[in-house]
Amino acid sequence: MLPWTLRSWAAEINILWATKMLRFCAWRKNVTFDHQFIHELRDGVENMPEKNKKVLVEITEIGKIIDIKGDVITLKGMPGCVYGEILEFESGDKGIVIEFDEHKVIALLIGDGINIKTGEKAVSKGKSLEIAVSEDLKGRIVDGLAVLVDDRGPIKPETYSRVFKDAPPIMARVPISEPLKTGIKIVDALIPIGKGQRELIIGDRQTGKTSIVVDTILNQKDKDVICVYCWVGGSYSSMIKVAETLKKEGAMDYTVFVAAPASASSTEQYIAPYTAATIGEYFMDKKKDVLVIFDNLIKHAWIYRQISLLLNRSPGREAYPGDIFYVHSQLMERAGRMNPEIGGSMTFLPIVDTLQGDVTGYIQTNLISMTDGQIYTSTSLFNEGFKPAIDIGLSVSRIGSKVQSAALREVSRTIRLEYAQFRELQRLVQLRARISDKIAKKISRGQFLTEMLIQPVNKPVSEIGQILIFYAFSKNFINVMVAEQLQDFMRNIEGFIEEYDQGLMDTFKEGKELTKEIKAGLDKAFSAYLNG
Ligand code: ATP
Ligand code: MG
Repeated sequence: MLPWTLRSWAAEINILWATKMLRFCAWRKNVTFDHQFIHELRDGVENMPEKNKKVLVEITEIGKIIDIKGDVITLKGMPGCVYGEILEFESGDKGIVIEFDEHKVIALLIGDGINIKTGEKAVSKGKSLEIAVSEDLKGRIVDGLAVLVDDRGPIKPETYSRVFKDAPPIMARVPISEPLKTGIKIVDALIPIGKGQRELIIGDRQTGKTSIVVDTILNQKDKDVICVYCWVGGSYSSMIKVAETLKKEGAMDYTVFVAAPASASSTEQYIAPYTAATIGEYFMDKKKDVLVIFDNLIKHAWIYRQISLLLNRSPGREAYPGDIFYVHSQLMERAGRMNPEIGGSMTFLPIVDTLQGDVTGYIQTNLISMTDGQIYTSTSLFNEGFKPAIDIGLSVSRIGSKVQSAALREVSRTIRLEYAQFRELQRLVQLRARISDKIAKKISRGQFLTEMLIQPVNKPVSEIGQILIFYAFSKNFINVMVAEQLQDFMRNIEGFIEEYDQGLMDTFKEGKELTKEIKAGLDKAFSAYLNG
């Protein structure tokens, strides 16, 4: 503990002298500095006039590495460190503080750590982990610590932003009022997502989760939404596939790809989602709408569990550490819609795997409770050929349905119920041989609806297209079609009506309302299509 007299003297005289005094004491090695004093000193330096800062010697703390286990480094010394602070080692590597007590500090290694040794010195300058952000990040691939990894050269950072940040305060936020269109019929019509919402995508392996988020990104083309794709813990080859799809479809122009595949260090994988959120926040602060994808958070939880077990933290449920809820919730809370005077919005689509459809796992239930709804993908639906394999009964959106456009809401209102009834009837019919005409009609309508909801990958449907399709279904225009005719209809109808009656389409696109006149016009156009 620093003697009281020295402490008050340092506070009174001036920061520069205090620094010198500190260095003198360190040289004599006869005192240890307490946490609060070093922070007071650092705060003082931050608030000093520029002219004094020039002559000020940097305040540093020096510690020593006493243990290295994988990416986890234990040090002694440095009583003034804080969570998220950057340390520099003699070997040239860096570390980030993730735990400390009065005797030791634990840091995660940043860098390859080939030359790092115990006994080495570590220096802390009181800086927390920051990444360089700039408009130029659009179209680029960065690693989990926002270092550019594609071969297109460096960018000029506009500013540096802290990776571990608190969520925006309530006063800065406004209610979610705009839809974020995914271009996937089932989602936009039945489980709509709002800008600033957090919607979990949950399902077994290989059920089309990644395809849903990739399609959502493709649908943001020309919509002034910046996308950040955070790939964490997955295989390198699947990551390349996703990145190539985005590039091929022209979606990289407005996307930043944060790549922390399974081959990356555990530090990188642990930090990658926070990096993605920080990049998203940079654009949000510029009043842009941002969409951030986390693919996938179960792998992130695994990495955090691995780090925690190396730290000898006591394992809790499913061997995860006690703070795993906080690790994810502090991330999820960063999404939201800001007051238009302050910023734009940030929508999160985190993905999480389940094992054999079990949504009651620890991480899964945590994430369900901290998001505003979930899209559940099911293996059985996928195997039946119902793709995207979204289970409408188990999926929910707690916010987005309030912001759906009036026309889409009108035409899709009864679909969820109708589909649920159809599934129920289908189950019953398997047990009974004879069914009434009424039931048979309901089943065939249900089968048609199922066919209508099927959508191939990378083929987003515009909102107008969706309204037209569901409107035609509600008016029984298309229910006579066979599967192929229906797919043709869904592909071509928007273009057809545009040609048939440009004026009608223009008014419809402008107001997005199904007025009497528009309905009459559409009815005429549908008849023309069917007869033509
Ligand atoms: P993983 O658990 O391995 O990450 P995933 O749940 O992300 O898998 P995807 O990789 O998106 O699943 O999809 C698995 C396969 O299903 C891919 O080959 C993809 O092309 C196919 N698929 C996904 N959605 C559709 C769809 N709507 N229509 C046709 N095929 C689809
Ligand atoms: Mg996937």
